[in-house]
Amino acid sequence: MSLEDEILRLKRDRNAVILAHNYQRPEVQDIADFVGDSYGLSVEATKTGADVIVFCGVDFMAQTAKILNPEKTVLIPSRHALCPMAMLLTKNELEQVQKNNPGCETVLYVNTHADVKALATCICTSANAPKIVSQMKTDMVIFGPDANLGYFVSKTCDKKLVYAPEAGFCPTHHQIEMVDVERARKKYPNAVLTVHPECQPQVQDAADFLGSTTQIIKYCVESDEKEFIVGTEMGIIHRLEREAPGKKFYPISEMAVCPTMKNITLEKVRNALLKNRFEVEIPKDVMDRARVGIQRMMDLSK
Ligand code: SF4
Repeated sequence: MSLEDEILRLKRDRNAVILAHNYQRPEVQDIADFVGDSYGLSVEATKTGADVIVFCGVDFMAQTAKILNPEKTVLIPSRHALCPMAMLLTKNELEQVQKNNPGCETVLYVNTHADVKALATCICTSANAPKIVSQMKTDMVIFGPDANLGYFVSKTCDKKLVYAPEAGFCPTHHQIEMVDVERARKKYPNAVLTVHPECQPQVQDAADFLGSTTQIIKYCVESDEKEFIVGTEMGIIHRLEREAPGKKFYPISEMAVCPTMKNITLEKVRNALLKNRFEVEIPKDVMDRARVGIQRMMDLSK
C-alpha cells in the first residue's frame, strides 16, 4: 500500500480531516482535505463532523484550531514545526508592554501562542489587520508581533501603534530585499509583483499587489495578467499553479522558504494518525480567554 493510501485509510478509520497551510510541501497539500491560510483552515475545521484534525502547519495554527474546536482532537505531525515569529512575543513581555501603556487596547496577529492571545483585546490576520485596528476604541493600540504588518496597518489607519516586541518579524519574509525585487523585475519584465505584508516596508511599497496569501491567490486567479512574481513563501506556488493553470508564477527569491513549515512530511502525517501524535493541549482557561479575541475578530471582520 502506498503512503498516500495508508494515510487515506487511517483518515477514514479515525474520522479525521487533514488541513494544510499554503506553505506546506506540495505532496502534503495534495493529500489534504483543505488547503488555505491559518485562520481559514481553523474556521474550516469547525464546519466538519470530523473527530480528529491533523493540522499541517506550525504550532500557533494548530493551537488556533484547538481553541476553535475544543472538543476535537487536534494533532500537529511534527513537534519541530514552530513559528519563529510567534516565539518573539512572550506572555511576560506583552504584560510588561501593557503595563507601560495602561488603557491601550491590544491587537495581536494570529501568529501568536495561545497564552499570549489570551491577553489580547482582539486578534487579526494579515487580511483584516487594518480593518480590525481601525475599529479599536483607543487612539493608541498595542500591536504585535510583526512590525512589518504594523507598517501595512499604519498606512491605511490613523491609530498610533505601540509595538510588542519592538521590532518583530517573520525571518522568511523579512529576508526578502529590494535587490530581490529588482532582480525579479528585470528577469520577468511582464510579470505583476505580488507581496505579502510580512515583507519589509520598502518591498511592500514596491508591490503591484499587496495582500495575504488568500488575497494573493484570489488576485492571481481573477486577474487578466498571465505572469506573477510571488513575494511570499514559495510553497504557495504549488497552490497557485493548481488554482490558475496556464498562468506563470515566479518566486521572488529561491530563499523564500519557511523551514519549519517544511518539517511536516507525508511520513509524519501517517504517524500522526497512526500514533495519535502530537496532540495539542492547552489549559481550558487559556483557551476560553484566547477565544474571546478570536471571536471579536470574527465579529469585527463582518
Ligand atoms: S512563514 Fe514566517 S510567520 Fe509563517 S510560519 Fe514561517 S516563520 Fe512563521
